[in-house]
Amino acid sequence: MNIKVTAERKTVDTVFLQWVSDDPRERTDYDIYFAPSDTEQLRKIDTVPTYNFIHNSKELIDNHRIRYEIGKGASRIGPIYPENNGDKYLYALADQYCWQLKYALQGVPCDVYCYTNTDNYCPECWSKESNKQIKTKCNTCDGSGRYGGYTGPVKCYISIMDGAETDNYVGGVSKPRTILRAWLGNIPLINKNDIIVDSLKRVFRVTGDPERTTAGSEQNTRFIVKQTLLIEKLDDNQKFYQTLGIGRANE
Ligand SMILES: [Zn+2]
Repeated sequence: MNIKVTAERKTVDTVFLQWVSDDPRERTDYDIYFAPSDTEQLRKIDTVPTYNFIHNSKELIDNHRIRYEIGKGASRIGPIYPENNGDKYLYALADQYCWQLKYALQGVPCDVYCYTNTDNYCPECWSKESNKQIKTKCNTCDGSGRYGGYTGPVKCYISIMDGAETDNYVGGVSKPRTILRAWLGNIPLINKNDIIVDSLKRVFRVTGDPERTTAGSEQNTRFIVKQTLLIEKLDDNQKFYQTLGIGRANE
C-alpha cells in the first residue's frame, strides 16, 4: 500500500483524514486505527470504503496527544499526528458553521470529489512512456485516456443558493450554463475543479478558487472555518462518473 495522508483537526471534536493512493483503481477498504494518548495502544475504530475519514468523538475534545494509522490487510501507514492549525475559539466557530448547515440554513447532504492532480491518465489505455493512448477501445475509462485524479467522496453538507441559467458564447454559439453560489464548512478543503454531487444527484464543478474565511485570532490565519464558492452544473453526469475513476458514486 502506498498512500499519502493529510490529517487536520477541524472542530472541537472532529479530525479529518484524507489520502491519495498511488493506484487509482485500488478499491480495497481501509482500516482506521486510533489512540487517544501517547501511551495507549492503537485500536481499530472503523473500516471505510473510500479515501477519507471524518473522526468525530468526545475523546478528541481538548486532546492533542492523539494519533492514527491507516491499514489495508497487514500493511499499515503511520503514526499519523493531525495538524492543529486553529485554537479553541476557531474550532468552536467551525463547529457553529457545521451546525448551521445541518440544522438551520437549508444545507443539503452532498458528496465532494477532490481533484488531486495526480494519476490523471488511464492505466489501461494511456502509455506514460510514449505519452499517448495505445488502445482505441478501453474498458476502464470513457475513451478519453483520462481516469481518476479525484479522491472521495467526502460526505458533508452544502448550502446551494438559487441562480439563473446564463447564456455563454463559445465560438459564437450560445451555450447555456448554470452557475450557482454555494457555501460549506471546512471539511473538505475545496479547490477549483473539485466535483460536488448533491442529494438530488446533480453534478457540479467548482469553477474558481473558493473564498476561504479564516476569521479568528491574530496568530491563526491558516485555519479555515468556512468556504464560499461558485459551482457550475454539469449535464453529462454518467460520463462524468466513469471518468472520476472511483466507484460508489451512486451509493
Ligand atoms: Zn482508458
